[in-house]
Amino acid sequence: MLPFIRKDLAQFTAYKPHPSGDSPQPVQLSTQIDRLDTNESPYDLPSELKQKLAWTYQQLIETNRYPDGGHETLKDAIAEYVNESPSLFTAANISVGNGSDEIIRSLLIASCLGFGSILVAQPTFSMYAILAQTLGIRVVAVGRNEENFEIDLKAAQLAIENTQNPPIRAVFVVHPNSPTGNPLTAAELAWLRSLSEEILVVIDEAYFEFSQTTLVGELPLHPNWVVLRTFSKAFRLAALRVGYCVAHPELITILEKVRLPYNLPSFSIAGALIALQNHKLLLESISQTLSERAKLIHALSQNPAFQVTESAANFIFLRLKPNGSQPKDAALKNLHQKLRSAGTLVRETGGGLRITIGTTSENLRTLNNFSSIPDRD
Ligand SMILES: *Cc1c(COP(=O)(O)O)cnc(C)c1O
Repeated sequence: MLPFIRKDLAQFTAYKPHPSGDSPQPVQLSTQIDRLDTNESPYDLPSELKQKLAWTYQQLIETNRYPDGGHETLKDAIAEYVNESPSLFTAANISVGNGSDEIIRSLLIASCLGFGSILVAQPTFSMYAILAQTLGIRVVAVGRNEENFEIDLKAAQLAIENTQNPPIRAVFVVHPNSPTGNPLTAAELAWLRSLSEEILVVIDEAYFEFSQTTLVGELPLHPNWVVLRTFSKAFRLAALRVGYCVAHPELITILEKVRLPYNLPSFSIAGALIALQNHKLLLESISQTLSERAKLIHALSQNPAFQVTESAANFIFLRLKPNGSQPKDAALKNLHQKLRSAGTLVRETGGGLRITIGTTSENLRTLNNFSSIPDRD
């Protein structure tokens, strides 16, 4: 390896973006491919909105000019969308990132770089640990209850009390969690509320539009809390890379210092604005996703080999019940591979398969592909 590179980065495994090119059994070109592995919306932006965006691009965006680096118009629109009661939040409570991934990195720099460790409860969104490791920040991981995926709160509290060199300065939770789909419980919330104000609490609400449960209403009580949201899921803008956070203005000021000056392209800013102006239209598809989710959970639960849990998001989590004849890991890999060969791409993570809810026909193919695979061969 090049001698000037940090040794810890050589061993490090980066996030694997899709489509991954590592399939041992290449998917045949004739097969319909359903990309149900990254929790995007199955619906593209409606063509009338694409036309509006194209018009904005042609008429209003000068490509030779830097984008609006202050994001004021977008922040105002976000504050208005987030507000539960009028004027609870203003642009001073919002920071915008190149995907919420960028904000996660800024939060790590602002709270932990050189000073603190982070706490996560596995399985959860992998980017927290990945981004922390790239910055040389230590990651402390605790587990979850095997049945309902609640965080092991005893272990979490012990980790907070006992971790030194450096102490835990940030806790990351997803509400509802990915890949397991469960929203925070009353006990988890009570624990988060009990944490010292010296610890940053990051509540990632990437799936808020599906769960309709949010903690933004509690932000004024907790200057150490930040809520993360994204345009990549329900708003159908994964291609444009826009995420945002809501927090105390002092934290926002720091995040604005830490981020890159022109972190969002003009086209992405325009896309996010159009999505917010038309949020009712875009979010109409959610009820369809939720009823499709119920159908998928019901159908897959009929198979005695599968354990499928309730989900508050646009994906479901499927595990295999213990079976004497084959180790669970091998059976899971096998199932994942067979689905892939049949054209259904899902994500194998956290000891199970995370399956994004697609369109009605995608979900039908998912069920067909599951039922065409012999149990545990
Ligand atoms: C998809 C997802 C995000 C979104 O990340 P972007 O960088 O905004 O695309 C954030 N957090 C979680 C838990 C997610 O699943």
